[in-house]
Amino acid sequence: MLKLTNISKYYHSNEVVALGLRKVSLEFNLGEFVAVTGESGSGKSTLLNVISGLDTYEDGEMYVNDEETSYYSIEEWEGFRRQYIGFVFQNYNIIDSYSVLENVMIALTIQGYDKEKRKERALELIDKVGLTSHKNHKASKLSGGQKQRAVIARALAKDCPIIVADEPTGNLDSESGRVIMALLQEISKDKLVIVVTHNFDQVEEYATRKIRLFDGEVVEDKIIKKSRKVEKELVVPSFTMSIYDLMSISLRNLFRTPRRTIFTAIISIFTVIIFVFSYGSYVSETSTSGNFYGGGYFNNVTESRIIVTKFDSEQFTEAEITSIEDLSKVRTVIDHDIILDMIAVTYQLEYTWINTQQHYINPAAMLKSNQLVKGTLPTSEFEVVIEEIEGKDVGDTIVIGFDNDYRFDSDSVGIGTEFTITGIAEKIKLGDWRGRLYFHEDFINSDELLYKAYYSGSYDSPLTLEFTYNDENIFYMEGQSILIDDSVPDGEIHVSDFAYEELMYNLGLNPETGTIDDLADEVFQLQGTTSFSEIILDLNLTDTYTSSSGKWSLMMINSNTIESLLPQGVYQIGVLVEDAYDAKRVMNEIDELGFNTIYPDAVTDPFSAIFAIFTSIYLGFILGFLMIVIYFISYIVLRNIQSSKKKDYLIFRSIGASKKDLNRVTIIELLFTSLFAYVFTMILFVINEGLDINIPRYLRYFTVGSYIFIFSLLVILSLLLGRRFNKKIFGKSVITSLKQE
Ligand code: ADP
Ligand code: MG
Repeated sequence: MLKLTNISKYYHSNEVVALGLRKVSLEFNLGEFVAVTGESGSGKSTLLNVISGLDTYEDGEMYVNDEETSYYSIEEWEGFRRQYIGFVFQNYNIIDSYSVLENVMIALTIQGYDKEKRKERALELIDKVGLTSHKNHKASKLSGGQKQRAVIARALAKDCPIIVADEPTGNLDSESGRVIMALLQEISKDKLVIVVTHNFDQVEEYATRKIRLFDGEVVEDKIIKKSRKVEKELVVPSFTMSIYDLMSISLRNLFRTPRRTIFTAIISIFTVIIFVFSYGSYVSETSTSGNFYGGGYFNNVTESRIIVTKFDSEQFTEAEITSIEDLSKVRTVIDHDIILDMIAVTYQLEYTWINTQQHYINPAAMLKSNQLVKGTLPTSEFEVVIEEIEGKDVGDTIVIGFDNDYRFDSDSVGIGTEFTITGIAEKIKLGDWRGRLYFHEDFINSDELLYKAYYSGSYDSPLTLEFTYNDENIFYMEGQSILIDDSVPDGEIHVSDFAYEELMYNLGLNPETGTIDDLADEVFQLQGTTSFSEIILDLNLTDTYTSSSGKWSLMMINSNTIESLLPQGVYQIGVLVEDAYDAKRVMNEIDELGFNTIYPDAVTDPFSAIFAIFTSIYLGFILGFLMIVIYFISYIVLRNIQSSKKKDYLIFRSIGASKKDLNRVTIIELLFTSLFAYVFTMILFVINEGLDINIPRYLRYFTVGSYIFIFSLLVILSLLLGRRFNKKIFGKSVITSLKQE
């Protein structure tokens, strides 16, 4: 069944050609027990390697069941080794991380031995070689002789027609050697057994034939005793491992080489973290419109701000406000949303000039959890958290003006209120030239701030004022024409000297001869109009004052008076949430409560829309680039670790595993590791979602698609890496690599 004709084998190394076999012609049949002898270097091992398809030959032809083998493909040789050959190696070739039982079982798994009987068969052979008490010991813990016996059990357990053994008893004492030889004979009844030995005496009793090699040539080929005639038909089934087998081999490899596995897992975990961060920042960035201007209607545009009004433009009741406050994701509710669009001004003395800087006003509750980089939140009315302002730190004081006109007193110092800085916040919108100030709720809700929000003194004030007498508009009120000063009594109005003159003329009186007292019995009306209200107050003109350049104005009223002109009630509230994700949910809930919502961050203008497209392209590009970088880094870091598999894989191959299946094992191992890393890291991120620490919470932006997308990236990476590693592991022929190990 096995026939060699004129087989020659040369080894080429460093220009020197060594002879392995020279024109060897032999024919073997089932039932034979062949002893191969010869001195060291005579070519015995070479002969066995060629016969078992581990090594190639140059000249001649080898026939297996009359089939030529010189045209065999790699896959055909793999099939031959898997189904025909049980090999006992001179130098053990055992998988160190496996137990004895596993080493025997793996050969049966690869061969496709009947699943039900695998274990029984393995245990039977382990018992026969006397290793039952060691069956669960790791191969690395065995002595040389024990390893040899384990390898013999592995070769004999396989259901294959040819057993080749290269000095199988070389490491055993003579008694064990005898037992092994007897075992080989017993098993060989209907097989072909070829044993290489130094010690012919040991096999003499069993051998049916003796072959002696010298210098690569057959110098003796003698039948010692008649061999059994094997009549039975040789049926060699083909077999490929099931995905289940491949997965269990992968899992075992992972568990048996924990250091390799942990290292690979750590790399995978880092990869997942990098993916989640880069993709997370991408989705969180693109889930907000990225616009600064709120379509031109709003100043203070952030993903945290939702504006709520009633569809009938009426006031909110206490109960209605409470129902909104009670929504679970709502951080705080500002009764007068208009405050959020105010601009506050800080004044900074820079050498010889004063640098005025504009800021949005925000309640401290609008600070995101991870945004406060230093200090604490404000705890009282005149404390503030700032975004970085040069030269200002926690504990310093800062003057903040709220009038929208940058006024200075005689010492050229900005006019405003003094605040103590309690913390520094990170900028939430890079590129926005205005900064942000975060105030205590008591300050945000103060009446003073409210009238300043309505009456900024500029043309586009939300509150417009009209001064009338007998329903006649006797004065054109322009921006900055009314000054708020609490020295003016309630219900009274003071006019500037300049306004007084014009008023007298308009009323047909002589400002030269008359005095302000002439107007004492007259009633003037000041009308305040906002989009929510129209209020008219009757006022008396009681005094004049000198208008100065610093406080240029037409009239003066006190703050009670201006407050009376504001809408008396809550019409437009500001609802503040953590981020765009929460905003979407809260807006749905508010819709269900029956109120009107406006989300400034979603009010886009064409510029912002184009900007968003560019950020998408840019960040997509970054992600692709990251993939490539991670691929190469992982490859370099894991290369050596993966190469440590090489020896195990060679053993797998020498006992018949196909390259294709081993490639799959590598990839499945990487996929399992990735899956573990993925689940593990995601759990960490889920935990992070619930914590208030300084790690961005990106999962809230993730959809099912996001999870699949990141996992797909990981799978692609594993496939690419697996392919690359396999190329490295299977670079050379089995025997060349085995000899190098
Ligand atoms: P044996 O098993 O009888 O001791 P081998 O078959 O191992 O002999 O070797 C036969 C000859 O081939 C020897 O001369 C040996 O030096 C040579 N040889 C074996 N393997 C190689 C190899 N990989 N490279 C070069 N020469 C080799
Ligand atoms: Mg040898």
